[in-house]
Amino acid sequence: MSLTVLMNAGPWLSVPPPGYGGIENVIATLVPELRRLGVRVVLASVGESTLPVDELVSVFPDGQFGALQRPYNQVCGIAQAHLAGVVRQLHARDDIDLVHDHVEAVGLATLTAMGPEAPPVLHTLHWDLAKHPALYGNLDGGDRVRVNGVSASQLARAPRALRQHSVGHVHLSSPLAVGAERRSRPEKGAHVVVLGRINPGKGQDLAARLARQVGFPLVLAGPVGPYHRPADLAAAGEAARQNPDVRYFHDEVAPYVDGELVRWVGTVAGHERDDLLATARAALFPLRWEEPGGTAVVEALALGTPVVATTRGCLPELVEHGRTGLLATDEEELGELVLAAGELLDPDECRREAAARFTPAVMAEKYLALYEQVRRLTPSVDLQPA
Ligand code: UDP
Repeated sequence: MSLTVLMNAGPWLSVPPPGYGGIENVIATLVPELRRLGVRVVLASVGESTLPVDELVSVFPDGQFGALQRPYNQVCGIAQAHLAGVVRQLHARDDIDLVHDHVEAVGLATLTAMGPEAPPVLHTLHWDLAKHPALYGNLDGGDRVRVNGVSASQLARAPRALRQHSVGHVHLSSPLAVGAERRSRPEKGAHVVVLGRINPGKGQDLAARLARQVGFPLVLAGPVGPYHRPADLAAAGEAARQNPDVRYFHDEVAPYVDGELVRWVGTVAGHERDDLLATARAALFPLRWEEPGGTAVVEALALGTPVVATTRGCLPELVEHGRTGLLATDEEELGELVLAAGELLDPDECRREAAARFTPAVMAEKYLALYEQVRRLTPSVDLQPA
């Protein structure tokens, strides 16, 4: 009999996401592979999710992403309401063998609080662990709740209580890694791309300043807070400045955006995103935070685009300096490195690396092994799936 997993994607975006959406992309990548391996998947997401699953359960009809970064009282209840719906499911049914949870903080807290009656839980830590010291520092999931990281470097920085619940890490993957080594080489353009949320940790201001100083065309792609298109941000006016990422963009990035050498194109999706990345001479990650998982890093490699980045977080685990990318400890070096990357590094090496290490099948097999490990570690579990 097959294993049934409740995959808790949360209330923020549909699965797959319409464009931006790191966690939702990971889930959209993982679920088809798990089902291929015989796992039944009940997806807890928003009603408009279109990913083929065995069952979809939801509280909200559509993604609540627009509410993120609003004040606590306006945002926290959304995650709580979604989790309450998950808890109702877990109380009402007995076919769930394991919950694979992806909801930041609230998912871990709620599922831990359910106590021994609830199924075993694997909670994937997708974010910077410094964000929730109180929760992680005091975690007690007993024998039933375990966590995994998305890189070894992320877990190395985890507080002790969280590490005691850890069953290791699984690197992120991308569907683009499948057959990446056989993909034809698109013509490379002159541009460098930064793909990701516009945010101080992702360092778009540094990229934009270096582009202007060193003189390379730069495309910044990604949302500014809830705004996906430049026209939407412009229309939002001054009120939008309540959002910290909007303030960051206006004050620190926009002064370098001239619409010619440095452009912000908003969120890109589908083929447009892939073409932008595949034809770039380098994908730049001028990180100022300890990047925990780096989906966009994996995607760049899969599309044959060398990565140029600060040596932060998971970057040294994903990128080999001198072979698939160039890493720098000094931010100011990045400008020169993006010029060198196109000359020194072979796009085929990047694609081969992605095809060997970051395919959905590799990720799903690792998660399936973790599900089994988590169930084995939960003494009350009858290891015969329901
Ligand atoms: N992304 C996208 N369009 C954009 C910007 C980002 O599709 O304009 C995707 C990107 O390809 C990646 C995800 O959003 O799959 C961002 O994930 P990552 O782990 O890089 O960043 P984070 O989760 O920290 O935002």
